[in-house]
Amino acid sequence: MVAQSSTFERFYLKVVRETLFPIVLIVVTVNAAIILPYAIVHKNSNLSNQKSGLIGLVKSSWRSVNWTDWSVWTAVGVLFLWSNLSLLLPGKEFHGPPTQSGFRPTYYRSGPLFYILTMATVVPLVWSYPMLAWYYKFTTLSAILVISGILFCIFLFVKGHTCPSPGDFGSSGNPIFDFYWGLELYPRYGFDNLFDWKTIVISRFSLIVWQAIVLVAWKANYELHTAAYRKGDVSWSMSAATILQTVYLIKFYLWEDGYMSTIDTSVDRFGFYVAWGCIAWVPNFYTLTSLYLVKHTPSGIGVVGFGVCVVLGLSMTILTYLADRQRQVCREKGGKFSIFGKPAKVIHAVYENQNGEKKRNTLLVSGFWGISRHFNYVLELGSALIWSACGGWSSWLPYLYFIFLLILLVHRSHRDERKCRAKYGKYWEAYCTQVPFKMVPYLY
Ligand code: NDP
Repeated sequence: MVAQSSTFERFYLKVVRETLFPIVLIVVTVNAAIILPYAIVHKNSNLSNQKSGLIGLVKSSWRSVNWTDWSVWTAVGVLFLWSNLSLLLPGKEFHGPPTQSGFRPTYYRSGPLFYILTMATVVPLVWSYPMLAWYYKFTTLSAILVISGILFCIFLFVKGHTCPSPGDFGSSGNPIFDFYWGLELYPRYGFDNLFDWKTIVISRFSLIVWQAIVLVAWKANYELHTAAYRKGDVSWSMSAATILQTVYLIKFYLWEDGYMSTIDTSVDRFGFYVAWGCIAWVPNFYTLTSLYLVKHTPSGIGVVGFGVCVVLGLSMTILTYLADRQRQVCREKGGKFSIFGKPAKVIHAVYENQNGEKKRNTLLVSGFWGISRHFNYVLELGSALIWSACGGWSSWLPYLYFIFLLILLVHRSHRDERKCRAKYGKYWEAYCTQVPFKMVPYLY
């Protein structure tokens, strides 16, 4: 019986989880990243009026791509180059958390300056030039990002095997899983390994492309309804969704140093899952609400609805920032700090790294981290739901990002529990006793 179950577990792990699942996920996401923007931009957000079915939709999406549109290649190339060069901007040095082998990566705090400089260029460009034409080029942009992302992952795969950077790396023995999950934790290049690929791709490229698309979508909507805007009719829903996503992204850049201690950066290897996810999935999928709103601004929301959405959405984003910041400050100060005027409650956990050395870490038990063990995810979902709701109720397309994020974060909370339980053992159990719920108190 034991032998049977371990054979089954091995089969499940090696064949299903590490081979079939990555293949299916790659095929589905690579196509979804084209089909969904195509359906919104070129099919009036109506997936059901496609007579030739799903295969027909896949074919027509890929056929709509203009591979020789050099303006799109240039825009992507310039942003990618700038993302690399941005690591030369001045900023205070800081270190990421130690890995299981004791390695600590070095970073420079230049995210806010990068955002300001980029926006100082992007905003005047978007305002001065027609953007509706760029909106109709979106499938070409999607396809270029999808293919460039895959090529970049092949590069990471080869680099991981031939010249890995310092930090954790290694192969699972299964090339499909290695491509999907990645080989290196901190792939870098250049003098003194200054250029960190994760910072370049996630923080400097992916999120700034998201920001640019949101602004382009707002301007395209403005151009489509210039006459209405001139009459004083503002597209309140589009404006609310734009403001909320912009503030969310500004929050990210203000907290970029904190991001360097998150699961994406300090736990997950850099392969298709994170790298392609950031190069292609984030710009093509996270922006669906804005793309949808270009032609489908619900009329009912009005100035009051706008005010409610903006106030609620901003509150969620600010609270997410505060929750993430509490964890960051807790670690920086070893738990010696106050939350709302009271000393923070913490657990001083001891764990063993892979070299057998005893290490200490602080687990925060009060503040947001005392409400549930991942209350930051609930707040993050709240922001996403509010800007999705700006798309109204007549289609599910504006809610796709929220639905995706819900699945991602529930799965991630489960994954993180497993990691923390294995790392901290009895200290994690003590935390779970004091804070029994993973995300939503009394529910989950
Ligand atoms: P967290 O910021 O929640 O980090 C989890 C890690 O924090 C754990 O692995 C553990 O790491 C440490 N930790 C756990 N409990 C405590 C505690 N009580 N006190 C102190 N440290 C603790 O997760 P993520 O990295 O996933 O998320 C970071 C942010 O990014 C969140 O705001 C999240 O919502 C957002 N996010 C957004 C996504 C998107 O696509 N929009 C996707 C994923 C995340 P250690 O080993 O160091 O102890």
